[in-house]
Amino acid sequence: MSEQEAATAGGSPEYDQIDVSVLVIGAGAAGARSAITLAEQGVDDVLVIGKRNHGDAHTTWARGGINGALGTHDPEDDWTVHAADTLTEGHLLNDPEKVETVAKQMPARLRELDEWGMAYSRTDDGEIDQRYFGAQSFRRTAFAGDHTGESLLDTLVDRAQEIGIPYRENVMITKLVSDGERVYGAVGFDMENGRFLVFNAGSIILAAGGYAAIYNRHTSRDDENNGDGPALAYDAGGSLMDMEFVQFHPTGMAVDEDEPDWEPWSGRLVTEAVRGEGGRLFNADGERFMERYSPDQMELDARDVVARSIAKEIAEGRGTENGGVYLDISHRDSEFIQERLPRMYERFAELGVDMAAEPVEVAPTSHYGMGGVAVDRHGETGVDGLYAIGETMAGVHGANRLGGNSLAETVAFGVVAGSRVAEQVDGPGEIPTELWADLIEPQFDDLAQLAARDGTYDVTEVVTELQSLMWAHAGILRDEESLQAGLEVLSELRTKAADLDVGPITSDSFEFAVDIGFMLTAAEAVLRGAVERTESRGAHYRTDHPETDPDWQRNIYFSTSDIGGMSIDTEPVASPSDAVQAALDEGYELDYHQLE
Ligand SMILES: Cc1cc2nc3c(=O)[nH]c(=O)nc-3n(C[C@H](O)[C@H](O)[C@H](O)COP(=O)(O)OP(=O)(O)OC[C@H]3O[C@@H](n4cnc5c(N)ncnc54)[C@H](O)[C@@H]3O)c2cc1C
Repeated sequence: MSEQEAATAGGSPEYDQIDVSVLVIGAGAAGARSAITLAEQGVDDVLVIGKRNHGDAHTTWARGGINGALGTHDPEDDWTVHAADTLTEGHLLNDPEKVETVAKQMPARLRELDEWGMAYSRTDDGEIDQRYFGAQSFRRTAFAGDHTGESLLDTLVDRAQEIGIPYRENVMITKLVSDGERVYGAVGFDMENGRFLVFNAGSIILAAGGYAAIYNRHTSRDDENNGDGPALAYDAGGSLMDMEFVQFHPTGMAVDEDEPDWEPWSGRLVTEAVRGEGGRLFNADGERFMERYSPDQMELDARDVVARSIAKEIAEGRGTENGGVYLDISHRDSEFIQERLPRMYERFAELGVDMAAEPVEVAPTSHYGMGGVAVDRHGETGVDGLYAIGETMAGVHGANRLGGNSLAETVAFGVVAGSRVAEQVDGPGEIPTELWADLIEPQFDDLAQLAARDGTYDVTEVVTELQSLMWAHAGILRDEESLQAGLEVLSELRTKAADLDVGPITSDSFEFAVDIGFMLTAAEAVLRGAVERTESRGAHYRTDHPETDPDWQRNIYFSTSDIGGMSIDTEPVASPSDAVQAALDEGYELDYHQLE
């Protein structure tokens, strides 16, 4: 009898148990960096797991760069200005302490990566080069061509291997073992052979990515950023924060979806570095329309401003046939483009477009969830022993993320959480007996029943319905009526999700069926938060409340209510330190004209 049959029949399924002091769930930059800190600080049984091969986390898709006030070109830059820019573009909803942690650490973190062999692009005299990125006062974004994430993760994986950190690949975690107060481990399965797994861990660092792929136009891989991290923490008793803030990147690829070569690229990222290197936006009438919306910062204004401007041009009939606008860098010479934007250049060349000779078509696309798991300054959730870092955590980006700050956050909070856990962890501990009966065995049953489910609805269709619902009801422009309607459709989708036609445990269909559960949690929090926040701020734009309301300088928290369902609470944001307040008062901003 297979384990699935045994579980369905009420027998005890077979499983492997793995005991570790620290389980790092997520093999992207955040997970890898935290594991390196743990190992360097003497924790000798750390295990890093991920849903794919260990060099293949979503981080590899990051393109344009990673921020840190090195001052390579602009010596006036320092960490206080970095923090001030981050708070300004986060519309003062960020947690100032977390912002300062990232900004302060980054110069040293960037140099450390250099020592570990990161393939940065260099200036003529060999310094780490830094480029302009939207809404930053100085050139602060270090980069490796336009494949910064790949280079970062290669560097971290090499370092992790050098110091002997073990990885386990192709493992999907479906539930954390928690009594709501403390975490003891995690349950999941081996995606290659379907075997159930129980991890018994003293501490868990959740670095499982974000939730931007709950929208159908997105820059993420389809099988990542489905909300696993936030939903796992929420289910374990943690709180989520500011989930309504979803960054719509202004420049996703706008394609003819009837063309098979182009269709898979719909919504995929055209990196901000194209604008950073001088790319200009034009509507179908040939107007450089950013002059209308942001005459000073133009194309390099914050992502929310540029995304809304493009959306408006398209909505008012000045878009292209493929529902986009033009992004043009053809005034730069071909050699420059190929050196600074090699991956972008190659991608379009393969599709028959020469960026050095003609514009490309772009439209906004879901890119990043600024919300996530609520954590303290060490990255710890409200559940003892459970930490959340990287894109899974909330707090650094506020209402709008600066490009290049996410990779910065992964390494900075990887170090912060890793150090804290290293100080506190004391072996694997033991899972309390009652949690085996109350949580682990029922989870095995649920997984087995899911694999055996032969219901009415196709998994992919339900995923697509959910993503379309989010785009239609909680997209770039929102209002109360549409958000409430979205919640109703979501509840119908929950019914469908209980009646899926699912494949075996090792199939893609099974993985997505599990993901639907995570996506539903993330989607509900986005919709509820967006209803609750009766103002417009950063990436959250309410057409029925178009102004920013100073009384709403509050974070929204989502947690499981005692009587079931999702409960919502709000708290005011803390104040920045004097040093950062002084930088805010100084009012630095990019002098756009120096780009011309
Ligand atoms: C196209 C694109 C371009 C970007 N460019 C930039 C940029 O230039 N600069 C910048 O700062 N940011 C950029 N970002 C954002 C940045 O890449 C991410 O925020 C960052 O890499 C997240 O890293 P992470 O380690 O938190 O998570 P990820 O790299 O997403 O890693 C998550 C890990 O968790 C694992 N995992 C997930 N769920 C489970 C589960 N249930 N069980 C087990 N394992 C699980 C995954 O397999 C993976 O190993 C970009 C994002 C995209 C999509």
